[in-house]
Amino acid sequence: MAERSRRGAVVVANGAEGEPRSAKDRALMHLRPHLVIDGGLLAAEAIGAEELVVYVGSEHGEAVRSMSRAVAERGGRDPVALRLVEAPHGYVSGESTAVVHYLNARDARPTSTLERPFERGVRSHPTLVQNVESLAQAALIARFGDAWYRDAGRGRTRGTALVTVSGPVRFPGVYEIEYGITMAELVAMTGGPTAEIGTVLIGGYFGGWGSVRDLWEVPLDPVDLAEVGLGFGCGLIGLLEADACGVRATERIVHYMAAESARQCGPCIFGLGAMAAALERLGGCRPLPDDLENLARWSAQIVGRGACHHPDGAAALLTSGLRVFADEFNRHQRGHCAHASLRAGED
Ligand code: SF4
Repeated sequence: MAERSRRGAVVVANGAEGEPRSAKDRALMHLRPHLVIDGGLLAAEAIGAEELVVYVGSEHGEAVRSMSRAVAERGGRDPVALRLVEAPHGYVSGESTAVVHYLNARDARPTSTLERPFERGVRSHPTLVQNVESLAQAALIARFGDAWYRDAGRGRTRGTALVTVSGPVRFPGVYEIEYGITMAELVAMTGGPTAEIGTVLIGGYFGGWGSVRDLWEVPLDPVDLAEVGLGFGCGLIGLLEADACGVRATERIVHYMAAESARQCGPCIFGLGAMAAALERLGGCRPLPDDLENLARWSAQIVGRGACHHPDGAAALLTSGLRVFADEFNRHQRGHCAHASLRAGED
């Protein structure tokens, strides 16, 4: 960006947060709106941008109100133009090309043009689309210094991150953690479990399932998680009770991802639709003979076939579900579920 932008460049502080169980961006915008603006202005200064757009998910009412108040409090005294835009509801409306598309044409669907937003974005100007938490972290580093920032972090990644913890713990919600604390420490911070925990969804709907037993002592650090095949993603730690049905939990997420397709690429519309239908039959223990086999095949075939990474995320989630809940999937393919209530855990 710094190399190509001079005239008319734009920074977008991306707070769409369409990930259903994640709440960290909206909490940050609600509680520390000026940090987000400060970080956006720093980025604008670094690349010579002329405008900062704060893009907030319209469904996050408190964040919208707090950010609008903060924009008004700035009173037009900042060196770049500042405006707030409410992002339409939708899982993909925060994808970077969808953000640019919405700001240009009021259509929050990803585009597949070869030029990326940093080359040609809002009003055809180079555009940096950056997550609000990253911008707020930049503002803190500017204020307190890099040594202060590096002082936090127990493992290989320095600094802190906001995470959203959901599931059977005493106080689910948004926490700021040092990178590198373990899952065991994080669960202790939330007041401890209220039920036996079996599995965890890490990184959000674009992330993957893992067994809590295997992950209990693994540092919550992007590098360590990558070594066990998982990503930090949006920082969601979605805990699932040991007695909940993993097939139904996976079905619910893939179903949601299929419904949230922007419906412009065939593999995404039909592929995710077919996956969701097969999972629904399996979840209800009324599968077709080849449902499980097809799911394994489709989850590999669909990768890279959409204009954006939406189908890839659903495929990765399904692949991890097929691995972590392998016994349950096999049982469901034979028409049985070990979980009497077919409970899938909380939303
Ligand atoms: S892959 Fe899916 S979500 Fe992405 S642009 Fe195509 S239809 Fe839309």
